[in-house]
Amino acid sequence: MRLPLVVQDTSEILERILEDVRSVDPVNARTWFDELRVVSFDGGLLQVGCSDPSWAQYLHDRCLAAFTQAAQRITGHLVGVQFVVTGRQDGAAESDVMQRQVRLHPDYTFESFVVGPCNRLAHASCIAVSQNPGVIYNPLFLYGDVGLGKTHLLHAVCHETQKRAPHLRTEFHSCEQFVNGFISAIEQGNLPEFQNQYRNVDILIIDDVQFLREREQSQEEFFHTFNVLYNNRKQIILTADSPPQELAALEDRLISRFKWGLVARLDPPSYETRIAIVKKKAHLRGLVLPDTVAELIAEHFKSNIRELEGALTVIYATARASGQPITLELAKQALGVQELTCRSVSMSDIVRAVSEHFDVRITDLQSKKRSQSIALPRQVCMYLARNLTRHSLEEIGGHLGGRDHSTVVHACSKIEQLYKSDASFRERIDKLTGWIMKNNG
Ligand code: ADP
Ligand code: MG
Repeated sequence: MRLPLVVQDTSEILERILEDVRSVDPVNARTWFDELRVVSFDGGLLQVGCSDPSWAQYLHDRCLAAFTQAAQRITGHLVGVQFVVTGRQDGAAESDVMQRQVRLHPDYTFESFVVGPCNRLAHASCIAVSQNPGVIYNPLFLYGDVGLGKTHLLHAVCHETQKRAPHLRTEFHSCEQFVNGFISAIEQGNLPEFQNQYRNVDILIIDDVQFLREREQSQEEFFHTFNVLYNNRKQIILTADSPPQELAALEDRLISRFKWGLVARLDPPSYETRIAIVKKKAHLRGLVLPDTVAELIAEHFKSNIRELEGALTVIYATARASGQPITLELAKQALGVQELTCRSVSMSDIVRAVSEHFDVRITDLQSKKRSQSIALPRQVCMYLARNLTRHSLEEIGGHLGGRDHSTVVHACSKIEQLYKSDASFRERIDKLTGWIMKNNG
């Protein structure tokens, strides 16, 4: 059925849809949404096109509902939305292949990967391999703890080779997919098809090969796959959670093959690299992040970058939900950082910092004096103690001249008000908080 809808400017409709999607689904919104175009709007179906198959897949998987609801709200009609890949002749074949493999994540590219001392070799070798598959490092073996970017680099290699050499056949699978595929191939009696899928390729990428541990038959199959590819000078890229020699229960002949090429380790990122990663992730979402917030996240999430990203998402979602800009204060509340810092920051750390910062004496802060010049810094102490320690209201009041808990409550809400309404005060408090955490955390 055709809609009696007069469409004047489809690009304007798309613009309004994007605006809507960005506000209802900020977590999944990306800056590259700007490059989406309307392909057609006909018979109640809005086709939205993009040039990259991984974008279309991402939109379909994560954003379909948000786009559809926005389209219906904006047009006032029961519109359906479809994402299509534009400018490709081989679209159909592509999506067929993509079903069986790991789906490429549009965020996981070389551009969005932050390089630091912790991952320089792994990154450089992945770039080299995507430029010259099968020639330089074969196999390329990446290892490191969970959340350090191994899978990200594998996706980046796929993106890059698709761009540079689309004729090359790349198969990218998790090791689990390999093992399960192997088992069901045996069950269904189509082993040759399975073997063809893995052996008739230019680049074979298998993520998390530690999954082969204690799966002897799959190891055997993988061993032969490896040999065929290696002898044909086809590129093999593998990742694992430990170096080859520590992949216990893996056959020695397999382990020694893993070491034939280049073995690169990924280490946990330094503080500076973590800050750069947070900023990169924020940028990808079109998000403006104060430096203090990037520092806060980098300080508290040290070992796993996925957690760091999760923190960013929580902060972002909280800001959107409350309609407030992202500030250090909001970020802390969103993350419940007081929980994390309570062990290290003490009452006297706070009192000392406030005393220096407001140029008042510690003894005055802890006295009963009521003069305005002392009252405000004392209230700041209470507020900070509430946010940065786990002390009760009574304890905080007791420490600051024997005040009762209602005085502390009043102080906290007063400082919070000031914090919200006065930008220079806010900056002052943020700096002070940062200082306390850095020096006592
Ligand atoms: P692994 O496979 O090693 O467990 P992933 O590749 O899944 O880790 O990475 C976890 C998350 O951290 C991903 O969202 C990834 O984008 C991100 N990440 C890891 N390292 C980096 C980096 N150097 N730069 C940007 N993002 C990174
Ligand atoms: Mg991984």
